[in-house]
Amino acid sequence: MGDPATHPAVKPAIKPSAVPAPLPRSVRRGPPITVTCECGERCDLRYGERWSCEGCARTYDTNRIPLEEYASLRRNRVHDRILPSAVFAAVAAVILVFVLIGRPLAAIVIVPLSGFVWSSFVRPARRRRQYQAIAERPRWQLRAD
Ligand SMILES: [Zn+2]
Repeated sequence: MGDPATHPAVKPAIKPSAVPAPLPRSVRRGPPITVTCECGERCDLRYGERWSCEGCARTYDTNRIPLEEYASLRRNRVHDRILPSAVFAAVAAVILVFVLIGRPLAAIVIVPLSGFVWSSFVRPARRRRQYQAIAERPRWQLRAD
């Protein structure tokens, strides 16, 4: 019959770690956080960094910013970079189709055409939206330690 020794009932316990979990890469490399001290001093920090003001020695800890709010900021910026690559891939695919059906002239025409459409319609719209996103960028009240 079964050997009880091969099925140990007690699994080795996972040691509780004293070190806090490292921040995800997307958070560590996210947009800088501008901290303005009560005395007017400013500093750009990464999430998770601490800063002590040179003027008045108050210290600020960016870990106090809710992580999920900061992460959503980063998601928006990643999204802004997806659209240009998607458009580029779509234009490349259309060019390929024209070449394959034997209309290379149409393929050549589509390059300046899509460049014109991008710079006169898509880019200004995106820029407006990005300015708006910056204006609506959340503000956090960090209290000095
Ligand atoms: Zn200060």
